[in-house]
Amino acid sequence: GAQICECHECFTGPDCALLIPDCAVEADSGDPLLFEEYWMQHPDLGTVVIPGWYRMSYQTCDAGTLGDYCTDALKAAIQDLHGLTGNAVTKGRYIVLGTGSTQLVNAAVHSIALQQKEVSNVVASIPYYQAYRLQTQFFSSPNYQWAGDPERDSSSFEGSDAPVIELMASPNNPTATIQEVPSNASGVVVYDYAYYWPHLTPITKAVNADVMLFTLSKITGHAGSRIGWAIVKDLDLYYKMLNYIFFNTAGVSHDSQLRATHLIRTVVNSYTNPPTMSREKGIFHYGQEVLLARWERLQGIFSNSSRFSLQHIETKHCSFFGKKSPPSPGYAWIHCEHEEDTDCYALMLGANITGRAGSLFGSTDRHVRLSLLKRQSKFENLAAHLSALVSQG
Ligand code: PMP
Repeated sequence: GAQICECHECFTGPDCALLIPDCAVEADSGDPLLFEEYWMQHPDLGTVVIPGWYRMSYQTCDAGTLGDYCTDALKAAIQDLHGLTGNAVTKGRYIVLGTGSTQLVNAAVHSIALQQKEVSNVVASIPYYQAYRLQTQFFSSPNYQWAGDPERDSSSFEGSDAPVIELMASPNNPTATIQEVPSNASGVVVYDYAYYWPHLTPITKAVNADVMLFTLSKITGHAGSRIGWAIVKDLDLYYKMLNYIFFNTAGVSHDSQLRATHLIRTVVNSYTNPPTMSREKGIFHYGQEVLLARWERLQGIFSNSSRFSLQHIETKHCSFFGKKSPPSPGYAWIHCEHEEDTDCYALMLGANITGRAGSLFGSTDRHVRLSLLKRQSKFENLAAHLSALVSQG
């Protein structure tokens, strides 16, 4: 039959190869479509066929805990993936599945707050992933409230005995900085390791915090499948989080779990011995190669600019690749250097580039975040717009 062809944004023509001149580029969301090409290049990998009768029931197979039925296969795949990359300890830990880690951020906040005796202050260091604030304010309950940055806003809760819940992404979104709360800090820390994977940052140790969040979205790129997981040490917290998932969505889509299990198994199999393909064709190698090249392009574009600066990211030895990993972040966190350029976001917008304003991350609009996780065609368009902007001086 006739194929309906919709070109990607900014492209036109019979085979969608013509770039629409000066088409505005959206570099706002962290939609990880750079991985689409990987799965298209390997059509034999990743495909899942689901029979009509597959897991129709709410609870099917083995009786599990409320909201946690039939999750063993995915949890085993997740453990193997952490084992392969060496990025996190899973032995003796509990795994809570979520509809994306978005659901788990609030599941963790809500559940930790239930364990704490008084109204909890939820904090995150600036610049923080904006959903921490937006979700916490939106879901705010008698048990917790948003309290801002632990240093800047501490006067509002210093001296009070209110317990603290700190949300911390490491590597950070937007800066890609590795973050750790001082060990003498009070309160419970929720570590969000969405970006602690070898294609995005050097793996330097197996992290082993009390509460850790992960997401499929930034590993294989399947953000639309909505699969995330929390690794927790405390049994009571595990039950509280399961309860949250049960009341919120009565579990996690079995279709998505099947797809995620297969995708993760595919990734693990591509690296294990005997490998089903050469290591260099594994998704971590692919992702790192793409993102390294993009970062180098940006460095080239901004190297002669006194008006804009890119964040500094350290090169460290990565235990997974067995060598140094130069920067390959998911985002550029751009600073406008000229005194008069107080709104870097608006400045970019004027050059037909939609980024994400620094104020959303608790910072000022002198910063703007640009996503580097999009399709290659989109990145090319972004690079072209940035080059033109920088050449204006
Ligand atoms: N945490 C961080 C730091 C993120 O950047 C994102 C996605 N942008 C998420 C959590 C949420 O990911 P998801 O809900 O797709 O698992």
